[in-house]
Parts: sequence; C-alpha cells; structure tokens
Amino acid sequence: MFENAKFVIDSREAFEGCVFVALKGEKTDGHLYVNEALGKGAVLAVVEREVDVPKEKLFFVRNTRIFLQELAAQKLSRYNPTIVGITGSNGKTTTKEMIYKCLDSGLAFRNPGNLNTEIGLPLAVLNDYEGQKYAILEMAMNKPGDITTLCRIAQPHVAVLLNVGTAHRGVAGGTEQILTGKLEIVQNMHKDGIAIVHSDQRILERIKERNVITFGFQKGDYYLDNYTYESLSTVAFYRTPNGSKVLRFSTIFNVGQLINVAAVLAVFDVLKLEVDLSKLENFVPVTGRFKVQQIEGVYIIDDTYNASLESFKVAVETLKKLGKKTYAVVGSIKEQGSFSEETHKELGKILEQLDGVFVYNIDHEIDTMECSKIVLRSDQPDVIVSKLRSLLNPKDAVLFKASRAIAMENVLKLFTGGSTV
Ligand code: ADP
Repeated sequence: MFENAKFVIDSREAFEGCVFVALKGEKTDGHLYVNEALGKGAVLAVVEREVDVPKEKLFFVRNTRIFLQELAAQKLSRYNPTIVGITGSNGKTTTKEMIYKCLDSGLAFRNPGNLNTEIGLPLAVLNDYEGQKYAILEMAMNKPGDITTLCRIAQPHVAVLLNVGTAHRGVAGGTEQILTGKLEIVQNMHKDGIAIVHSDQRILERIKERNVITFGFQKGDYYLDNYTYESLSTVAFYRTPNGSKVLRFSTIFNVGQLINVAAVLAVFDVLKLEVDLSKLENFVPVTGRFKVQQIEGVYIIDDTYNASLESFKVAVETLKKLGKKTYAVVGSIKEQGSFSEETHKELGKILEQLDGVFVYNIDHEIDTMECSKIVLRSDQPDVIVSKLRSLLNPKDAVLFKASRAIAMENVLKLFTGGSTV
C-alpha cells in the first residue's frame, strides 16, 4: 500500500500526494499538525490516536516511529542491497560521500548527512532509495541503543567504525557510553559481515568479532603512512595488504580525513570493487568540513559545520603543518552537558599551539576557556574580522570552527566578503 509513497514528518513540508507521519517528539506532537498536513495535500496521515479529521484520512498504527523503521527495513530486504554502515564521532559524512562519489551513481545510494538517525535514516530509505546495489549509510548515535536500532533497519555487510571521541557526550552520558554505543555497529553487523575499525586500543580491546580489518595512522591493516603538502595539494602515502598507494588530493588536507581514506580503501577491497581512485583524489569536501581555499596567499579553512575536541585536535595539527603562522576563530563545542567546562578547558590547551585565537562568544559557553593565545573575545563578527585582517600575511592559515549552533559561517562569510569557501 505504501509502495511509492513519499513520507513527510513535518507538516510545513507536506505537499500534494504525500503521506504524513505523526511522530511524538520531545517538544511537540505531530498529531497536532495532521490537519495542517492534510490541508497541504497529504493523502493520508499515519497516526497512533484519534485526530479530528475524516476517518478515511487516517491510518492507525501502534507506534508511528516503529512503523517508519519497519517499512524501511522491509523495503531494504526486498531489494537486498549490500549495506555499508558508517559510524564514528567524526568524519561520517565525508567518508560516506567519498565512497559514494567513487561509485557510479546508478550503483549506489547514500543517505544525506542530516538523515542519519532512527527517524532520518528510514525516511531517506523510504523516500529516495531506488533499488541500487549498494547502500552507503551513515549512522549517528545520541545514546547507546541507537546504532542497534539502525542496524535492525539496515544491517551492515560492511561495518565501518571511524573513531570514538567526545562529540555530544553531554547527550550520550559520557565517553564510555559513546564507545559502547558505537561498538554496536560491529556487534550488529550481518553474520557474514566484515568490520573496518579504527586501530585505537580502546576499540580493539572491546572487539571480540573475528571478521575485523583495522585502519589508522602508521598502524593497522590499511594505514596512512605519511603525508606532505605541496602548494595547494596533499600527497599521501598509504599501505594496504595489497601494496602501497600514493594519492594526490587537490582538496583534502585534514589529517583525520586522510586517515579515513584508509578505511575507504579497505571498503573497496572488501567489496572487491575496482574504483578509479582519481575520483577520490579529486573529491571536494562537503561545505563546512575542512574546506580549504587560498585568498591573497592566506589559507582559509572552513570547518564551520561542527566541532568536537577530537576534530579540533586534528584541525590544529593540520593547520600547523599548512601555515607559517596559524590562527583560529573559534566558538563553543555544544552538547557537552556537565562536561562543558572540562571540554572548553581542554580546547584552550589544544589552541595554545596556535599564534592567535579569536573567540566568537555569542552563546558564552566558551567563556570558561582559558588560552594565552586569545587575541580577543567578541560576539560581533565585524570586530573579529577587522582585527584578524590586520594580522594576516601570505602563507598564514586561519581556521573557522565551532559547533553547528554557533553558525560560525556568518563570521567566515563576512571575512571572505560574502563568498563561502
Ligand atoms: P560527521 O558526519 O561525523 O559529523 P563530517 O564528515 O561532517 O563528520 O566531519 C566533521 C568534522 O570532523 C570535520 O571538521 C572534519 O574535518 C573532522 N574529521 C574528519 N575525520 C576526522 C578524524 N578521523 N578525526 C578527527 N576529526 C575528523
């Protein structure tokens, strides 16, 4: 009955012919918006309880969330694609996009980065999956159990665990919970599946499964051995069980992303896919994920999409190797809950390695950060931009980074004169 249906969960996005699914969230209840969705052309509303609209417009289920998940699982089992599941604290979207871009578009499906949750992933599968042979799916977790739910919908044949860090630890409960939660992708992969995991001791100690390949920096089955920057490109040396590879990237600089390429190489080998690696070499990072451009000789790094301690560490390491003098415009790392003060203290230590730090403190959570390199703190983008401009010289590098909620791209846009990187 729902074969070709397009599902919508936000009544503001309802359109002629769609099916509206009323979900109960923390803030509001979709059942309150059934009327509005029908008014905008929804042909049916999937609901858990009575709503004051014509009966024939309602489809009753016990749990609308589970309804979406089960329907997506049924669709996937009908087409039976090879599923590559990707999780980790940092780099999911970029890694998924790298794999996807190297495959023919008719061959692979991937879920958009913001549709990677227990609601988003089913929606992406139901609305956009068209029976492709490979489904490359990023899987996000907020709390232990989330990845198990996602694996029930789409059980990975290849389970990629990129890394385990502190991102969203305020929501997850702590680093141990994050590790436990992310390991679920290995525990819940297909019985004949293969896991590709970061060669991090904390992860390896907890893995009992046998079908495991490791990747990392200078260790693992697939690893980044070394890398250098030449003008505006990166030369990276990889070792794999099938020999060495030298890749020249025109737009990837971030050492974390370069390490994740080792996982990408492992995925292709596991799937026995001969891909044209020049597609990987020419991969353009997703906006806001460490995109580098040079303006008047200065390296400008747009890493505004998000931030965690680990991605900051990697960004600073990369910056130090890229620029003569290094600067950063930074904002809060959000979703740290009771860890917030500790996180920002730690961030201050990481930033000590730079030549100058500008704090964009619109939310003030970062006010607890101490760092001797702070040039100024301001909630005014123009104040930051004019001081920063006065300091920069050719070959210097400047990073723009904060959690999504800070909208650091506004400062970057002002700095670059309106154009994003
Ligand atoms: P996610 O989808 O997991 O949020 P993204 O691909 O959007 O990841 O990248 C988010 C940030 O993580 C970017 O700033 C990127 O440079 C950084 N990053 C990517 N891989 C790593 C890694 N292995 N370690 C630390 N940071 C990384």
